[in-house]
Amino acid sequence: MKMTVLYSIRPFLAHKWQQFKRTIFRLKTKFVVGREPASKISTVNSKVSQAGRCIYSEPEGLCDGTKPLHPKEHYLPAGLGNFRDDVRLRDYICIGCQEKFSKFEEVFMHHGPEAFFRHMIGVSGRKKSRKKNIFYEPTAGMSPLTVVAQVPGEDWTGLWQIEGVSKGSLMKQLVFRNQQNTDIHLALRPGKLAKDFARFRKVHKPLRLIAWVCDPKEEAEIDLVCADFLKGTRSEPQKLPAEGENIEGQMLAAISIPYLQAIAKIAFHYVLAHFPFTGLEPEFDDIKRFIYTGAEYERFVQWGNEPFIEQLKDPRTVSSYWCHLLSAQYDTNTVESRMQFFSGPQVRPLVWRVMLGASPNQVIGTHAKGFSYRYFDKADEEGYVGVMTPLAPAISESNSLRVK
Ligand SMILES: [Zn+2]
Repeated sequence: MKMTVLYSIRPFLAHKWQQFKRTIFRLKTKFVVGREPASKISTVNSKVSQAGRCIYSEPEGLCDGTKPLHPKEHYLPAGLGNFRDDVRLRDYICIGCQEKFSKFEEVFMHHGPEAFFRHMIGVSGRKKSRKKNIFYEPTAGMSPLTVVAQVPGEDWTGLWQIEGVSKGSLMKQLVFRNQQNTDIHLALRPGKLAKDFARFRKVHKPLRLIAWVCDPKEEAEIDLVCADFLKGTRSEPQKLPAEGENIEGQMLAAISIPYLQAIAKIAFHYVLAHFPFTGLEPEFDDIKRFIYTGAEYERFVQWGNEPFIEQLKDPRTVSSYWCHLLSAQYDTNTVESRMQFFSGPQVRPLVWRVMLGASPNQVIGTHAKGFSYRYFDKADEEGYVGVMTPLAPAISESNSLRVK
């Protein structure tokens, strides 16, 4: 089954949504991808901290600095895969902080728009991580990703699970309608319906049940849990939508505070990996506090639809391959980062802007560094899912980066 999906973000933090899939766009000529690395020898580049302690031991109140230091911290969550030539941070943070950060990276990996794209193009993370169905399983107590679309031949909408770039299937679910005649969906997790439904009913009421999709053996569980809702006459069992049918749907992914903490952490650690800062500069105290506590996110993280603001304004531009784009710059005033995850042939992802703080260095001009993290069609023999390539500074426009 083919699906056309509209990509949108639930409005509790953001309400902008945008269409993808039909918008084919290429990166504008304001970035130039650097030369492919000549060497095929793979090394894990490390940048070693000189601080001798976890950088989150300052300012006071974050890390107590007692845990051993982490030998290779990824600034990109490991779930995005390993990129050839990427840099690891050695001895910058302690194992305790790394564990703390991995909790909100988990939210980033499984619950934001990036989780959806990651699933779509089939990026797999660390081998030992358990496989999680992002369409059914909540992450850190938050409801899973949803793709909602009209069910062909029916007057109700359903939840769909997406496989690959353009295949979808109707999920197992219960479909309710509220007093405003809005469809409200509950994914069916066999064996867990009673618990899921109790929670669901508290949030959504009053409701009437209008349809459900399940295997025959799961019907008994629905009969039992939803007894109050099943008083009406039932239809004959309906056929599932035919294969190959075109569906147009909408993807909803919530952006939460832990998600924004993950974004800020990626930006800050990216800057540490690629710029001459130790991470102990007092100018970074506030961003470290935000990464730790998630308070006052508006001061630190913003998002928009304009790719890299000045560099990629043309709405038709998109990468011709799947990649992440990370950049940062500092001048005499501030340090800032801009990032896009899962830029690709069919997607124009959100642009994240992270304000990291005042500049610790009195410098002349703007120092900018950008990289693309381009996915291979499949992981190479050493397990790299892609390669990190520098984005060369533009010749015509100073202070900007170019990609072609
Ligand atoms: Zn620490």
